[in-house]
Amino acid sequence: MSALPRFSMSVDDGHPLDLRMADLLQSHEIKATFYLPITNQEGAPVLSAASMRELSRSFEVGSHTRSHRFLNTLHGAEAWREIIDGKQQLQDQLGEEVEGFCYPGGRYHHLHKLQVRSAGFRYARTTQNLRIDLEFPLYEMPTTAQFYPHTRSVFFRNFISQRHWRKRSEALSVSLASDDWLIRLQTLLDLAIEQRGVFHLWCHSIDIEKLQLWNQLDDFLSRVTRQIGKDQRVHNRDLIAAGSDVSTVDSSQ
Ligand SMILES: [Zn+2]
Repeated sequence: MSALPRFSMSVDDGHPLDLRMADLLQSHEIKATFYLPITNQEGAPVLSAASMRELSRSFEVGSHTRSHRFLNTLHGAEAWREIIDGKQQLQDQLGEEVEGFCYPGGRYHHLHKLQVRSAGFRYARTTQNLRIDLEFPLYEMPTTAQFYPHTRSVFFRNFISQRHWRKRSEALSVSLASDDWLIRLQTLLDLAIEQRGVFHLWCHSIDIEKLQLWNQLDDFLSRVTRQIGKDQRVHNRDLIAAGSDVSTVDSSQ
């Protein structure tokens, strides 16, 4: 773990409200990584190429496949096209290399980790929660929590299904101590700080809008800036550089 606690943040799906999210993050001097598909087959709007370029000037931009399809539902060749086309088209729009990838829906198999590596990505992010350590395989970067009013049972189901239980058990027990989801996030932030780990928050801008959580997110980010120094608020790719003990591909799954 690093000498000082860190904070990172992911914003998924490239909804046009990501521009509002970017303004909020910049007002707190917080870095984030936006994972963008080119289109969204679920029908949600996606940022224009000009807006993607604007985001990339201040934040890390990663790929989220070409059309936001769950890789575990596709044949191998289809999954490959989603991964490689998503990377190339995003790079063409940005005019720069895209290093990070995020699995849509957190759904993937071992093959997809190999495909993501072959496509030239340096790392991939999952939706595994309750992690505050930096000891993860490059193509399975975990998170700490989603900014969403999940119930205790959702936390628990994620805990059971996403394995790595030993590294996550303390975060699970402290987070389940409260019924209030915001207090749960604050408790997890406190734990990450106490253990000098990393708190990795993720969200969808459209969820924040639909549930009217902008003020709560603003308050939470204020708490982050009071407790974690500016230099320790990093892009996800910086977590890779910081990790000293990451294996390239975890073959245990
Ligand atoms: Zn997504």
